[in-house]
Amino acid sequence: MPRLMAAIAGSVLLVLPLAYARGDAPVKTEQTLHSPEQIKAFAESDHWQSLSLKGDKRPFTAAVGWAPAEDWVGKSDEWIWQSMPSTTIGRTVTVGDDPFRVPKLGCPVHGPEIYGVEAYYPWVVDCDKLPYKLKCPIGGETYPSNDFAAGDFTSGDYPDDGSGCLKDGTPYYFMRLYTHYAYNTLLQPAIKSFGRAYSVTGDKRYAHKAAVCLLKEAYEYPNADDRKDRTYISGYEHGSGMITDVVWSAGALVASATSYDEILPALDGDQELVDFARQQIPEITSIDDVKLYIEDHLFRPGIQAILDGRILPNVGWGEECMESLGLLLSDYGEARPNTVDCLEWLYYGGGRLTTIGNQFYKDGSSYESTSYNDARGGYIRAADLIARIRQAAPVELDAERYPDIMQSENVQRFTDTYKPATKALGGARTICVGDVGSTGFASRPGRCGAPRPSEYLDGFGLAVLRSGEGQELRDVTLFYGGLRGHAHYDPLMLGLFGLGRDLLPNIGYPQSWSFAHAWEWSLATHNTVVVDRVEHPCSTVIGDLTVWSPGGACQVVEAAKRPYRKHEPRGEDGPDVSDYRRLVALIDISPTDWYVVDVFRATGGQDHLQSWHSGSPVDEARIRGIDGEMVQQDGGTLAGADVEYGTHYDDDRWDPYAYLHSVSRGKMAGVTTSEVVYPTDDSARVVHHFIPIGDTELVTAKGGAPVAPDKGVLEWMFPHRSGADGLVSQFVTVLEAHAGEETDVLGIQRLPVSGDGAGGYEPIAIEITHADGRDIILLGGDEEATLTGDGFSLTGKFGLIRERDGVASEMKLVAGTSLSHGDNHLEMPAAPEPCRIVSVDRDARSVVLEGETPDPAELAGKRVIIDNHGERLVSYTVTEAERLDDGRTRLVLDSQGAIGNGIAVGFEDGIITNGPEVNMPFAGLCEIDGRLDYSDCFYRGGHLETGEPGVDLKVRGVIGFPYQAWGALHDAGTNHVHLAEKIDAARLETMIGDQTRWTIYEYGVGDEVSFDREIVWRA
Ligand SMILES: [Zn+2]
Repeated sequence: MPRLMAAIAGSVLLVLPLAYARGDAPVKTEQTLHSPEQIKAFAESDHWQSLSLKGDKRPFTAAVGWAPAEDWVGKSDEWIWQSMPSTTIGRTVTVGDDPFRVPKLGCPVHGPEIYGVEAYYPWVVDCDKLPYKLKCPIGGETYPSNDFAAGDFTSGDYPDDGSGCLKDGTPYYFMRLYTHYAYNTLLQPAIKSFGRAYSVTGDKRYAHKAAVCLLKEAYEYPNADDRKDRTYISGYEHGSGMITDVVWSAGALVASATSYDEILPALDGDQELVDFARQQIPEITSIDDVKLYIEDHLFRPGIQAILDGRILPNVGWGEECMESLGLLLSDYGEARPNTVDCLEWLYYGGGRLTTIGNQFYKDGSSYESTSYNDARGGYIRAADLIARIRQAAPVELDAERYPDIMQSENVQRFTDTYKPATKALGGARTICVGDVGSTGFASRPGRCGAPRPSEYLDGFGLAVLRSGEGQELRDVTLFYGGLRGHAHYDPLMLGLFGLGRDLLPNIGYPQSWSFAHAWEWSLATHNTVVVDRVEHPCSTVIGDLTVWSPGGACQVVEAAKRPYRKHEPRGEDGPDVSDYRRLVALIDISPTDWYVVDVFRATGGQDHLQSWHSGSPVDEARIRGIDGEMVQQDGGTLAGADVEYGTHYDDDRWDPYAYLHSVSRGKMAGVTTSEVVYPTDDSARVVHHFIPIGDTELVTAKGGAPVAPDKGVLEWMFPHRSGADGLVSQFVTVLEAHAGEETDVLGIQRLPVSGDGAGGYEPIAIEITHADGRDIILLGGDEEATLTGDGFSLTGKFGLIRERDGVASEMKLVAGTSLSHGDNHLEMPAAPEPCRIVSVDRDARSVVLEGETPDPAELAGKRVIIDNHGERLVSYTVTEAERLDDGRTRLVLDSQGAIGNGIAVGFEDGIITNGPEVNMPFAGLCEIDGRLDYSDCFYRGGHLETGEPGVDLKVRGVIGFPYQAWGALHDAGTNHVHLAEKIDAARLETMIGDQTRWTIYEYGVGDEVSFDREIVWRA
């Protein structure tokens, strides 16, 4: 058991300083954030020279942009001081202070239309060239009408004295928005650029300007005592932020700390700085006073704001910020808060580093989109910062009290496993899941990186089949997870990369929060299947990887998921979907030619709509294979001919159907092809061959993000089936992509077969003809499904028969017992009963199994499926295997399976009460009217262990809100553990012990283990 989990005894409650004690001298005497080597590297870097001296576009996001230091160093100190209005004026991100309203207020003349120009920050603001004004992006007129900087608060039609401009009863907060711009796009970028420019050039003029900027920031910075009314949301309340908002304030502090550290050596002797500072702040009489002022009015209030929960950024950033400030000050003296306060918060307060593994799943993933999860990289940088705090400390820090967080296996795997696995094309592209990316189709191929093998992330819920080399790399992605933050409704979403680009772009980052739930977050805008047009799925459930057969010319994956809630307190009446799964095969014809077979099966409900969309812009979309012609719907939208664009309909519905227009329909006569041609240099095209199984119509439509309906319009294709309740559908699609007219796939047809497809699914055989021969793909509903055709047969889920020159050259059977072609027969015995785990060694990551297993010599690298009798089947990879003398089998797995740590602080019958500062983001059990609802709890089925022999308690679930990313910002619930067995409280206390650290593992003794089954034959 890692020390991290067992290190701390005694109370974890932390008494925070209630008010700061100010120092009488600056504590910072040397550079601690930067080593001499780092400074030297800055000086030698063209990148840093250019960015700090020339600047960038300075986007309106705190701590992101860079100022042109070379240009601005010529400006006066007074200019800097006057450039940002006082923080006695509030701040906002929209003129109406209404970022989530629909529609937002916008311009007094042009209204919300300005958000069609740019969805988030449409105003043209340049604090350098057009000071104290906002310029309308449509009319070019400016606001406010008064000359605020000159002391005029009333002139013109739109005056704003800082409290807003009241027009027909509606306030417009021009000055608040401007003040926020001044901080984010002028002062902050200047702090960064001047600091870095000094490191790059050694020219003290830059250090002087950086100091003036930092002094100004300190002069305006809110705090917990006399400047409470100056916070972003006035009043210094929970989540109020500081100069900027609750999230961005953290980045701003890191940027300022970085700059202060960089310029420190240049400050002594800057009498001009002292003289200027004294004009603004009379108490300053020396350079030490300048430093002390910055430390006590900027950095210590910043630390205090994190302690107090006024700054609460994305998980990982707050920790990184606190460590940066602790290391910056390296202060163990009387002034408070000091570095010890930072460390205490990091480990035993809101930083929760003693249970840091809780933020990561077993594969190193976290619970947000593939962009927001990057915030967890803050923890990785944090580990390094803590090591440096330890190094810089004048006293020896208690290694038991502040241990190395990289001891957590899950944290290590963030970098080793999760990050590279969520990249496609050898690292060139991010696999977009949740709020990330856009629908743009790349105009030219990107340069691919080094190939990676196919892999799966069973915590994140992502399987990736990969093949090819160099520019021929291709990746097929199947998402079977369920995010808890920045999530979309995207069960079993398919992705495809090739031709050096994302070929099936996900719907992307919301182009406007106002429409996100009606567009980007909805089910129907993802490559998946909607049942009965219900848009309320179980978004946080992770599915099961049911088949995993990577490697070779034909790679197969299947995943299943529960798409809707049904018969549960949190969702009684979702559609009754009994089967919902997707099997995908990536099949290589040659090193450069390939295609994908995709089979989506759904059972239940009366209406199945499979959604596909193009990227943008599209040159042409061609449909072939329809019975007759596509018939255009007379007006309206996909929501109905009588439902106009953008309307709320059927009383309360407001969803993508009302934003999909130009609707046409046609019955599929047989294989129906949609070819989308993009206006790219290489004439890239993505082709869907839909193979209808049973009566299927194809619906096409057009539509882009509602915030700007004429921009980025996508082509939509919906294979659609409907029927009596309990509808059974198989949506079969062959996908290919190529540059130019020449295709890899010459012909596709369905071959006649007879047999029992199982589960009501018709057996399917597809013949795919290519230049080198043909492939026959056989598909059955389950392992017992049978089919027989002309010269071939299958019992199982998947079979491939490949012929070259009319002769069988390769056969592959997956999850079945037989595959025949002419005289060639592949046979596998039926799946044995699952094995059972009889012992576990956590440190060794090993399990001992009883029961029939495949030959251990062939198990390394293979996947095992563990049924812990919880919500789902979980997957692990075998790294070593051996047969023991007693006939049992010992496997070493890729992870010890720890998914949560906590601290026992109390006991009830069947319940362990969890410590107060423990965050368990994978919780989700809730009790409603005496019933327990499990559908969001990943801990269900886990094993709670303390490291003491004999303590292995089966977990029913952890009570809590299923998304605790912002700690107490979201009420996290109790995080108490409900056990499967109702052991009485006294016995539990004896077994566990008060204040004992425990860990929930995803697998343990008694769980069942099974193996993938496949067989390949090559001539
Ligand atoms: Zn305007």
